[in-house]
Amino acid sequence: MKIETLAVHAAREIDPATAAIAPPLHLSTTFERSPDGSYPHGYSYIRPDNPTRRALESTLAQLEGGADCVCYSSGAAASMAVFSLLAPGDHVIGPRECYYGTRQQLREVVAGWGVSVDFVDTTDLQQIEGCLRANTRLIWIETPSNPSLRLTDIAGVARIAQRTGARVACDNTFATPILQRPFEHGAHFVMYSSTKYFGGHSDVMGGALVARVKDDASAKLRSYQAVAGAVPSPFDCWLIRRSLSTLPYRMRAQAANAMKVARFLHADQRVERVFYPGLEDHPGHELAQRQMPDFGAMVSVCVRGGAPEAMAAAGRMQLFTRATSLGGVESLVEHRASVEGPDTPTPQNLLRLSIGLENAEDLIADLDQALQ
Ligand code: PLP
Repeated sequence: MKIETLAVHAAREIDPATAAIAPPLHLSTTFERSPDGSYPHGYSYIRPDNPTRRALESTLAQLEGGADCVCYSSGAAASMAVFSLLAPGDHVIGPRECYYGTRQQLREVVAGWGVSVDFVDTTDLQQIEGCLRANTRLIWIETPSNPSLRLTDIAGVARIAQRTGARVACDNTFATPILQRPFEHGAHFVMYSSTKYFGGHSDVMGGALVARVKDDASAKLRSYQAVAGAVPSPFDCWLIRRSLSTLPYRMRAQAANAMKVARFLHADQRVERVFYPGLEDHPGHELAQRQMPDFGAMVSVCVRGGAPEAMAAAGRMQLFTRATSLGGVESLVEHRASVEGPDTPTPQNLLRLSIGLENAEDLIADLDQALQ
């Protein structure tokens, strides 16, 4: 089945009890036992498992082409679940540029467990090779990365990881399974902040981890979900499943808008630099062409001047909303350096744009007047 069809039909059936077409929302926290003490439908209590979360997990596993999916209450909880597989003495390689919260987890939480962490520029495979150790158990990548949209060669990383049997986990939040298929390049886990494109409407939080194969590690991730308890509510799962039906079309339309916006900014003298993998002068453009069918809907732009000029441009925007997060139908703008704190490597004049579903001409007109 093609991905658009899966997005609509995966894990959906006409409700046998009522013939309802819309999937039911099961809010029940507990499930009846049979007289013999068994659970006839496999569900006992809402935290370990429930039908609405199962439907979402099954849909995501199918969209990603993975063997299993485990959903969490946030993207941050999903990345922590992967890190829970690590033990004292293990070594992790992480990206120098990624969602700053993931870097913070590795630095402030994981490092405290007796796990050593090296941050490298994962766009340069030699740097990864250079710090690979016999005890390297995990290589974490994020591609395209936040906020400079850097591209990491997933297959190249997977080849290096094989040498020590390390697992490769890819934060695929910016691309989604519509624009990037990490399992086809050898990744072991794909991680998402479902709060972004999966939810797609800036009204629900969630996280997901998809495993390529069912093995000890995927079983531990499922057990960790119930034991650590960072589970999404059935309503949040239902909302995300609902939004997934339109994901392929939203991603393509938002990416097409982003390309138009990026080309406009690229040609504008008031702009110092544009980061968008679809632009020919982007350092990861060739890799993006090989690894992605389209280039995504995030565009970062360095405005001429410094932080005050960038902030002022954001302040004049009318259609772009000044807000954090991304992936919704409405376009957002954010001065990332001020969110990421004083030690951020992000340029002070960088604005990150999350391109939505508005008409690209209106978005360009707004940027044009804001840059004056
Ligand atoms: N990964 C990426 C690329 C993100 O942009 C974010 C959030 O901004 C996260 C992970 C964390 O996700 P959440 O905010 O759902 O915990």
